[in-house]
Amino acid sequence: LGMLKSFKYIIIGGGVAAGYAAREFNRQGLKPGQLAIISKEAVAPYERPALSKGYLNLNPKAAARLPGFYVCVGSGGERLPPDWYKEKGIQLILGTEIVKVNLGLKTLISAAGEIFKFQRLIIATGSTVIRLTDFKVEGADAKNIFYLRELEDANKLVETIKMNQNGKVVIVGGGYIGLEVAAAMRINDFHVTMVYPEPWCMPRLFTPTIAAFYESYYENKGIKIIKGTVAIGFNANVNGEVKGVKLKDGRVVEADIVVVGVGARPLTTLFKGQLEEEKGGIKTDGFFKTSVPGVYAVGDVATFPMKLYNESRRVEHVDHARKSAEQAVKAIKANETGTELEEYDYLPYFYSRSFELSWQFYGDNVGETVFFGDNNSLSPKPKFGSYWIKDGKVVGAFLEGGTPEENKALAKVSRLKCPVENLDQLKKEGLLFASKF
Ligand code: FAD
Repeated sequence: LGMLKSFKYIIIGGGVAAGYAAREFNRQGLKPGQLAIISKEAVAPYERPALSKGYLNLNPKAAARLPGFYVCVGSGGERLPPDWYKEKGIQLILGTEIVKVNLGLKTLISAAGEIFKFQRLIIATGSTVIRLTDFKVEGADAKNIFYLRELEDANKLVETIKMNQNGKVVIVGGGYIGLEVAAAMRINDFHVTMVYPEPWCMPRLFTPTIAAFYESYYENKGIKIIKGTVAIGFNANVNGEVKGVKLKDGRVVEADIVVVGVGARPLTTLFKGQLEEEKGGIKTDGFFKTSVPGVYAVGDVATFPMKLYNESRRVEHVDHARKSAEQAVKAIKANETGTELEEYDYLPYFYSRSFELSWQFYGDNVGETVFFGDNNSLSPKPKFGSYWIKDGKVVGAFLEGGTPEENKALAKVSRLKCPVENLDQLKKEGLLFASKF
């Protein structure tokens, strides 16, 4: 029989949400020994978005490295290195994968056979990448084909980048991971080709006009973009290292390294049949309580009521991971002390950065779009955006190159769903419209 360790609170998963939850527990009052974080990863919670940005930079002066991006620096908070957890009496149980869960008995079992018992559980297992091997793509198990989710993935990629300097990289996927990694590799002086099946990049968010700017900017930086076709196989050399990407349209693109960013899926399998699910995630209420008393789910895995749009949604963005974690801890404490807490009322927020560019998006991208600003990719400081209008109201807003005040104004109009009388007028006003509220 394995050793049994007992905690009042356990967080399963040691990513973004876990780190922000730990900070909130400490703020709310925590006694040494009450909280444990169990993580498959070997490091304390860090700001995951760094992995596809600064972490890949070969220039040691520009490269992001731990301890630089431990949570909570990504949102302007204090940095929590491993010593912080030690000081607070929080057990960081790292390099430990939970392989079995029994919510009825309130136990978790690790791969090494340790048993952990909890009174309250926060599920923060995040997502795992979708792999081309999942679809049995020919040759997809070749060496030097990478995915990016955890620090270990990024470390392997960085080692390979160093061994193939000035080489050729093919990026499979036109989402934000693909766009960020393509930029990082170009900055590292690699020959970069992006391949994606859609007619434009970031199709789930970008309008064709927005996407056209980024594609043209990337091409000006020397990145080759092949759209409308998919990778159907890979060639390898005698060492089993990838050498080419076979496209459906018959072309073969040379590659020393391939980075695949084709999406992620929430890690909910451990809880199958034990918790109610909805829309691919673990169903929660506005306090991140699941269908089992004492069990909470936050971050990428939670499907929660989005009050603003009157429907339940799952959100795979860092801002929600942080805020949902804080809300769940507040809810646990409110429950213990019998105090009131308001329901989660989230305004979706998402951002990305690459090269000198930086964009932010707030709200919902549904309805008609109105584009404004300067989207010439050769402008010294491009600045443009888009509003989404539904039923005569602004429901979403996108801005490239905005100041913090401008971004705040866009968040506000999206949150308030400000009415729009005239779309031509809105187009003329652009940012000015948002600054009036
Ligand atoms: P995660 O941060 O993924 O943490 C989950 C943790 O659980 C991991 O440590 C994992 O190892 C652990 N775990 C899983 N299963 C087990 C188990 N069985 N036992 C023990 N531990 C387990 N979002 C943005 O808004 N903007 C960005 O620019 C952005 N960039 C990103 C770049 C990259 C490379 C990636 C991968 C994601 C990015 N995201 C971005 C998304 C954002 O990072 C996630 O939404 C966020 O990390 C979710 O937090 P989480 O705590 O739910 O999950």
